[in-house]
Amino acid sequence: MAHDYAKGFYTSKEWIECRTGYMQSQHYVCERCGGVASICHHKEYITPANISDPNITLNWERLEALCQTCHNIEHHTSNITVDGLTFDSKGNLIQK
Ligand SMILES: [Zn+2]
Ligand SMILES: [Zn+2]
Repeated sequence: MAHDYAKGFYTSKEWIECRTGYMQSQHYVCERCGGVASICHHKEYITPANISDPNITLNWERLEALCQTCHNIEHHTSNITVDGLTFDSKGNLIQK
């Protein structure tokens, strides 16, 4: 599975704690439209090269609270996004 690296990260205690803290700091308000934010987006997309670098993955400066709509626009995709994980139509985890 090509994307297991990301799945491991997105289910890690470090990420969940980081994301929860950040989303609370933004009061779960979308930073783009003011709607209800449900997704913590990495402004610098996570790749196999940077996923083990906490300065990228766990850095509030690099996070953005987004609602589902704005997150979909950001990734220019109609793929299903659930809680930071993006899946293709077959349910496979994908990363842009
Ligand atoms: Zn929004
Ligand atoms: Zn994103």
